[in-house]
Amino acid sequence: MSAGAEAKLAPMPWMKAPGTRRVIKALDGESGAPRFVGGCVRDALAGRAIKDIDIATPLMPEEVVRRLEEANIKVIPTGIAHGTVTAIASGEVFEITTLRVDLETDGRFAKVGFTDNWEADAARRDLTINAMSLDASGKLYDPFGGREDLNAGRIRFVGNAKQRIEEDYLRLLRLFRFYAWYGLEPLDEATLHIAQSLAPGLKRLSGERVRDELLRLLGAPDPVPALRLMMRFEILGVILPEIFDSAAFERFLLLEPEMAASPDTLIRLAGLLAEKPNGLGQRLRLSGEQREKLHKVFTLSEGLAADLSDLAFRRALQHNDAALVMAGLLRAWAHGDPPPKAERESWLTIAKTWEVKDLPVGGKDLLALGHEPGPEIGRYLAALEEWWLSGDRQAGRAQCLKILKHLVASGA
Ligand code: ATP
Ligand code: MG
Repeated sequence: MSAGAEAKLAPMPWMKAPGTRRVIKALDGESGAPRFVGGCVRDALAGRAIKDIDIATPLMPEEVVRRLEEANIKVIPTGIAHGTVTAIASGEVFEITTLRVDLETDGRFAKVGFTDNWEADAARRDLTINAMSLDASGKLYDPFGGREDLNAGRIRFVGNAKQRIEEDYLRLLRLFRFYAWYGLEPLDEATLHIAQSLAPGLKRLSGERVRDELLRLLGAPDPVPALRLMMRFEILGVILPEIFDSAAFERFLLLEPEMAASPDTLIRLAGLLAEKPNGLGQRLRLSGEQREKLHKVFTLSEGLAADLSDLAFRRALQHNDAALVMAGLLRAWAHGDPPPKAERESWLTIAKTWEVKDLPVGGKDLLALGHEPGPEIGRYLAALEEWWLSGDRQAGRAQCLKILKHLVASGA
């Protein structure tokens, strides 16, 4: 299909859902019908599941709010200054944005103005595959040949790559994120060189924006081709100076299916790092939980790389989530020299079949034996745990108490 052409699609179920119908009806009017835009149009055409439904309208934001409220639809003025409100209708969520044009850009934020011109709104979007719109009857508006690009797996900017990146450096990362998810054709060489020369501009972006793009890229079924390019063109190191070489990461992803868990973006991030992620959590504004996970995988990996004995492995499993221990082990293998498959399997089987089981005795038992409270309690219990783990946690309470008494008596 040539650029600018319009096509008719059979309306899809999500377009006919009760909530969708209500919102579309409320926004319909003399200034023109609302349209679906962005990710939902792209994913519908690609035959992929729709994530969120974005709708654009030439109506001014206040008018959007007024009409939705009149139709008894709940409205949250999420980003009304930029023209975006969230509507909740029949349990479904919609982001509704007034058509916009960029008035001023500085590489990070844009000062936007409202317009009733659909082409102008499409022209400010980043990639051709993201610049299509679709009305409720199924008519597709595709001013930049996005459908053809999507079918070919061709990821390219709307307009001039250099200019589009300089307006907002996040687009440089989005190029690779969408390449990871939708790319089939190689990225254009000239665009890659432009991206390389503009990469230092990524340092100006906020940690939150970089984090969101990076994690979404890592969530792609196979992020390796995109990451490989980002390394070759000296882009990944700008946002991730802790990076290891891509070969280690590729080994990590090759081993990943052996964990038999669904890909976890943070675990993948941990697999990518060569250095302890000290400043990274702060820089990318990771949550406390995310930082802890990253640190755990990293620390487990370093520990298991240094000592992969049966006891060390069981100790790690006793004190950590098995998925993190497996991830740590995978990282250790990937960054070193992975053992043969049979050996890997035997380790992973231990982790996969590991059941949570507490040491059958505790500090209270030591106190009951007449022991004074103090730091030795922890030492005795740790020694007991080592013994218990080396016996495959078979010993019960009576046996553990006996050993505990023994340890105390000998002052071990
Ligand atoms: P996903 O399904 O992963 O959310 P998406 O296409 O909806 O993908 P969003 O980041 O939610 O991606 O953005 C919605 C739409 O807004 C995009 O499809 C694109 O048209 C436009 N857009 C988002 N970010 C930018 C940007 N930095 N520059 C230009 N256009 C953008
Ligand atoms: Mg989206």
